[in-house]
Amino acid sequence: MISRIDLRGSLDDPRDLLPRAEFDVAAALEKVRPIAEDVHHRGVAALIEITERFDGVRLESTRVPAEQLAEALAELDPKVRAALEESIRRARAVHADQRRTGHTTQVVPGGTVTQRWVPVDRVGLYVPGGLAVYPSSVVMNVVPAQEAGVRGIAVTSPPQKEFGGRVHPTILAACALLGVDEVYSVGGAQAVAMFALGTEECAPVNMVTGPGNIYVAAAKRLFAGRIGIDSEAGPTEIAVLADDSALPSDVAADLISQAEHGPTSGSVLVTDSVALADAVEAELAVQVAKTKHSERVAEALGGRQSGIILVDDLEQGLAVVNAYAAEHLEIQTRDAHAVAAGVRNAGAIFIGRWTPVSLGDYAAGSNHVLPTGGCACHSSGLSVQTFLRGVQVVEYDRDALADVAAHVVNLANAEDLPGHGDAIKARFVGDERNWHSD
Ligand code: NAD
Repeated sequence: MISRIDLRGSLDDPRDLLPRAEFDVAAALEKVRPIAEDVHHRGVAALIEITERFDGVRLESTRVPAEQLAEALAELDPKVRAALEESIRRARAVHADQRRTGHTTQVVPGGTVTQRWVPVDRVGLYVPGGLAVYPSSVVMNVVPAQEAGVRGIAVTSPPQKEFGGRVHPTILAACALLGVDEVYSVGGAQAVAMFALGTEECAPVNMVTGPGNIYVAAAKRLFAGRIGIDSEAGPTEIAVLADDSALPSDVAADLISQAEHGPTSGSVLVTDSVALADAVEAELAVQVAKTKHSERVAEALGGRQSGIILVDDLEQGLAVVNAYAAEHLEIQTRDAHAVAAGVRNAGAIFIGRWTPVSLGDYAAGSNHVLPTGGCACHSSGLSVQTFLRGVQVVEYDRDALADVAAHVVNLANAEDLPGHGDAIKARFVGDERNWHSD
């Protein structure tokens, strides 16, 4: 069911040999452009038509009324409410610690540069709701934005046919629990267009974050620059780096847990133990048959994006997982903590048997919106930092400027931009304590 890639004895760069999902965002851009154009020209009317086409729901308005939020919270299963509250509490503790304080550097006497961290004014948070619905993604988007101090927070999620065309009630309840009252029932690329461009019902935002399918990712790419975006979080991935000390039943369960997201999810085991590889394969056969979403799990595990990779030793294993740059990376080896220290590229690292990825999906306190598709080699998951801008505040007095003026003028002349130097000289015209340019 799951393919094997044998890299033992190979000295080649593993990057091209690794399993990876097809996620051609550039190709999806062509489908997304007309959607964005339509929302641009016709606003809410376009959103209603597009939603009817893709979600099979006829909306009266894109904005979720306040009563629906209150109703969803009142009707929320107390066990789910308690779990969401615990998830929020832990996420808040971690994200509050990520807050940055400004810092002033005294560059020279009379010359300072202060780094000020300023939250984005208004953000649009996308919560997926196609194949599965993700109330946990409400927590993972909203908490860092709130802890960063963002004042305007709007959430959007696709309407669900089976809930009378409303956003899934648990998503609405999670918004209510977090105190978010601006919620829209729009999904896909059209939701990103709504946020980026604004409509009669939704003021434009400065930034859109959150995971989604290929249309969501393509729309984020289309509007990047006009608005800020987080990384393009695509189909979920898990890589497990394991040796013969790992329990096959744990490894198989964790590979299945991420395959459950959908048929394009990637599950990868990297191991130096053929015995473990064999045992995990046998476990997968047993566990996949029993799991609720066995069809999509089997498709994901059998897809080109999943596989068992055999390596000579953990050193080669680390080279492979660093090349793969997984969204989620589990280390299930002896001395897992030390092995994890060798990981440079991963969205999040989960160390040891008692830290499965699904803990991080819901209630570790860490964020689950993480870079996929190898983007972990250059991007980070959502955090308070995502929602902050660094503004440098520069202040020099007369003597501090005079001290460095000659250098500025000389560099400006070297770049053939004498006007830059003239702006410095203008300050010292007729000043007897003039500066010297040589
Ligand atoms: P989604 O909410 O991203 O997309 C559903 C929307 O897509 C629908 O509302 C519909 O309007 C639109 N759509 C459907 N078919 C379309 C078409 N042919 N053309 C244009 N638009 C169309 O939900 P999803 O599809 O289930 O995808 C969610 C993704 O998010 C999954 O791949 C999941 O693995 C991923 N995810 C990632 C993370 C992460 O942190 N990386 C977390 C949660 C989920």
